[in-house]
Amino acid sequence: MPKLSLLEKYAKLAVKVGVNVQKDQVVVVRATTETKELTRLIVKEAYEAGAKKVITQWSDDYLTRYAYDYQSVETLEEVPGYAIETNRYYVDNNACFINVISPMIGVNQGVDPVKMAKSLTATQKALPFLREYTMGNKGQWTIVAASNTVWAEAVYPNLKGEEAKEALWTAILNACRVYEDSDPIENWAKHNAELSKHNVILNELNFKELRFKNSLGTDLTVGLVENHVWSGGGEKTTSGVYFNPNIPTEETFTMPYKWATSGKVVATKPLNYQGTLIEDFYLVFEEGKVVEFDAKKEKKTLEELLNTDANARYIGEIALISHDSPISNTNLLFLNTLYDENASCHMALGRAYPMNIKGGLNAPIEELEKKGYNNSLIHVDFMFGSKDMSIVGVKHDGSEVVVFKDGNFVI
Ligand code: ZN
Ligand code: ZN
Repeated sequence: MPKLSLLEKYAKLAVKVGVNVQKDQVVVVRATTETKELTRLIVKEAYEAGAKKVITQWSDDYLTRYAYDYQSVETLEEVPGYAIETNRYYVDNNACFINVISPMIGVNQGVDPVKMAKSLTATQKALPFLREYTMGNKGQWTIVAASNTVWAEAVYPNLKGEEAKEALWTAILNACRVYEDSDPIENWAKHNAELSKHNVILNELNFKELRFKNSLGTDLTVGLVENHVWSGGGEKTTSGVYFNPNIPTEETFTMPYKWATSGKVVATKPLNYQGTLIEDFYLVFEEGKVVEFDAKKEKKTLEELLNTDANARYIGEIALISHDSPISNTNLLFLNTLYDENASCHMALGRAYPMNIKGGLNAPIEELEKKGYNNSLIHVDFMFGSKDMSIVGVKHDGSEVVVFKDGNFVI
């Protein structure tokens, strides 16, 4: 484990900068059993920050695996009333959510993808109000990660056990700007100011579409919704509380126009979807929809993902990250989206964020859908950035602006 003083700084970062706990707020910590040391510190920090009550929901990836193996599909699809009521209580009490993840790479390898998809879909369908609360920024939420041996050995194939775990901890803390000799909260204030600069420039340019090209075969046009908003770094809830949904974060992202993506995109990193690694895949879009795809590994899982619902084949997010950026420069493949998506341009299959269109946080979803917002049960990011990526932005008057050259921002 890292030094206690560093872990405490990290816990404080999750509480103060991640969700920015308000006086007398209810805080929900959703954590896996791999994270107990960090989670204990987070709970304490949340109380110190003024939380009225901190509720911790533990899960364990191995127990989840046993459920997939031993329960019938019908049982997996049952969402008990108390689970819905519990989440209803959180939303009714304006709770904030801290997710403490620690992926066990490959834990669900070999699980029937159809069974897993049906189970996940049933849970998503039962909790639409929770999705609207978090994705609509009605309350604060954040995700932070903790190292574990299984994950670390997958990231560092040449290291074993504790040594691997320590190395991954160091990479995590560095990526999150948690250092011995500085205050992470100040570091994040500076970082958020930097990120918002690109948002301002891109909002002013107000592109109609972006054209992506690289030598791997990506040749893709992504149309953007009218009145789109570029976001990145800190965000505000509808009641004005500043928070950071992802720690770390390096991205600036916005909302595609649902029916205007066309061409081919080739993934540059594997996608760890619910414990299964989808590798070497590509997607072909026509009028916004995936019409063709292939994967060298776990094609069936990719297919189930794309078939989750009617809109899972459309995208809801397009995000730009320079190839020359802190997480990318570690040259590590983290095998986890929270980290890998911040090292590479990416897009998300499924649901869009209402904040990425002007007035979106206060408009009914049905209204947004007419404007090109994609509504789906899933939001799954995958990475396609590369060191030779070029991006050209096309404005409404037809003029073109080079946004990325050789993998990096040039605006
Ligand atoms: Zn993103
Ligand atoms: Zn995303």
